[in-house]
Amino acid sequence: MECPFCAETIKDEAIVCKHCSRDLRVVRPVIHEVQEIVAEMDRLRRELGRINARLERIKYPVHYFVAHTIGYVLVPIVLLLAAHILVTIVFDANPLYLRLASVIIPVPFGLVLYARQNAGFRGAILLGALIAILAVISMLTVTGFNDNVPIVPGPWIEWREVIEYSASITLALVTGNIIGFLILDVLPKTMAQGGKPNALAYSIARLLGQHVGEEQLRRRARIIQDLLVTVGPVAGVAATAAGSVYAGLKGVFGW
Ligand SMILES: [Zn+2]
Repeated sequence: MECPFCAETIKDEAIVCKHCSRDLRVVRPVIHEVQEIVAEMDRLRRELGRINARLERIKYPVHYFVAHTIGYVLVPIVLLLAAHILVTIVFDANPLYLRLASVIIPVPFGLVLYARQNAGFRGAILLGALIAILAVISMLTVTGFNDNVPIVPGPWIEWREVIEYSASITLALVTGNIIGFLILDVLPKTMAQGGKPNALAYSIARLLGQHVGEEQLRRRARIIQDLLVTVGPVAGVAATAAGSVYAGLKGVFGW
């Protein structure tokens, strides 16, 4: 933490500032309380945003529906379709670029979906699947008319490509959604944790070795607690992102 008197960085457990020698025992609980209040205010602000969004939906249902359909469904589909037209028709480039587009384009929409709508995992999967299906249908239609071939895929290899492409779009949107959760919810909570680490973190810290001082145990428990709350979502991001990249690039490299 930062010393409230001299603004130098000091240890969280310090009783006296090593730079200005001032007593921190009285100030520290106040600092922690302020940190907790700030975190609580952030939470309330997001809650208020959610309630306002719901109010807007009730007051102007048509406007809300149209705006959200355009923003969350139409725009990503248009972008994906534009990438498809540019890569396969205009430039006749390596399909790898199209697959990369399917991994990159949905991510920001998943992030905004969490930040603005507070939609979680299930909402992201539903929206991702909807975008994927509609985008792939539009692409097949465009290709069908352009190359004068049937719109509906024929052999299994074509179907597989459709499924992989859709999966990579869906997973990319879910990846963006989890990144949003990580940035907006998990990290601020981790950083605001000024007080005592929880009991589980203490137990794990003790398992790692008994013969340390109380302060060191506490510091160790803090690190473990931060790891515990961050590791789940980070693993989620890694898994969905890897899935998206794998499904997206699989066909191109013949894995
Ligand atoms: Zn100081």
